[in-house]
Amino acid sequence: MTKNNFKNEKIAPAQDINQCNLCGDCNTNCPVVRVLEKETRGARHKAFLARKKDYKEAFWLCTLCGACIQDCPANIDIDCLGIREELVKKGNQTKANQKMRDNIKLYGNPFGRLAGGKKAGDKETKEYYT
Ligand code: SF4
Ligand code: SF4
Repeated sequence: MTKNNFKNEKIAPAQDINQCNLCGDCNTNCPVVRVLEKETRGARHKAFLARKKDYKEAFWLCTLCGACIQDCPANIDIDCLGIREELVKKGNQTKANQKMRDNIKLYGNPFGRLAGGKKAGDKETKEYYT
């Protein structure tokens, strides 16, 4: 039997999106591609847009799961989170994201009022979310 020499060690993601050759391996386990079945919503398309610094709504369609980094032969992090940060700074976010941010400020969680009407600042809410 062949011995598996795989080492489960964390390799720092490459930060240079220009190393992307658009091979598409990052789509393999991208849940967004699997659910929406659209190349233009998937990891490779995000890499394509990120190379051009064309930041748009596609970056909100990402669970931030990191599967694309694991599958990328160049170990590239498309950095959807960082790109979203840029979009928010420019006032370009989805209504859903704005709602989640408002809920976090108001209720201490992204979903809104909790069962029992608890709010951010309530003793139980603080204990749960900190
Ligand atoms: S990010 Fe990586 S896996 Fe995805 S297309 Fe570029 S090189 Fe290929
Ligand atoms: S982090 Fe986003 S783009 Fe990457 S595999 Fe997960 S859902 Fe797809």
